[in-house]
Amino acid sequence: MLEKTSSISNKMLISVDHEKLGGFSERQVRFYLKYSSFVFKALQKPAFQKFLQWMLKNERIEEQTVRAVHVKVLPMRRKNGKGIAGNCDAARGRIRIYPKTTKFCQLFKQKFGRNTLLFYAVNRARAALIHELLHLKYVKDERKVRELAKGYFCIFTKKQSCQNPRELSIYKIIFATKSMEETPSTDSYKPGIQIKLNGTCLRASGVFR
Ligand SMILES: [Zn+2]
Repeated sequence: MLEKTSSISNKMLISVDHEKLGGFSERQVRFYLKYSSFVFKALQKPAFQKFLQWMLKNERIEEQTVRAVHVKVLPMRRKNGKGIAGNCDAARGRIRIYPKTTKFCQLFKQKFGRNTLLFYAVNRARAALIHELLHLKYVKDERKVRELAKGYFCIFTKKQSCQNPRELSIYKIIFATKSMEETPSTDSYKPGIQIKLNGTCLRASGVFR
């Protein structure tokens, strides 16, 4: 059989909902375009892609199950106003990863600086992608997905920590249970995204020293 080895990286794309653009200022759109392209590049990095391939194999999730990974330019909110990091349409094999809002990023940057913000954005997206990929198998089992996602993220960051000791610390931010909000829905990702600037991140600033 001439089956090509499919990898997630060539199913990834940056996508924007044009009809939503009107709700944002030009400056915001510029910011979100930069954000998405930065996150996209980071998710494409071979070390992370290799890790994802290993994870899928380990979970016996066929790579063909993943049809598309959309890195969305614009953020998404729930009806209650809370942001969403990602979601998974398991039936279609389609995953979406969303950015934090400009407002959040601004506050974060003021407090911790640009580099830490970039670092946070990338790791949040990585955690979201890990989480949503697991939903392809454990479709409605939010608890199981969270538990596994935490473990896998930790494995990846531990591996990376040889090159960058900060990688390990981000684990504490993304999965800081203290500031995590419980979600009633099963189809979307929550950990880390509701980090309060006055809570976890203050602790994180100590970690980053
Ligand atoms: Zn979930």
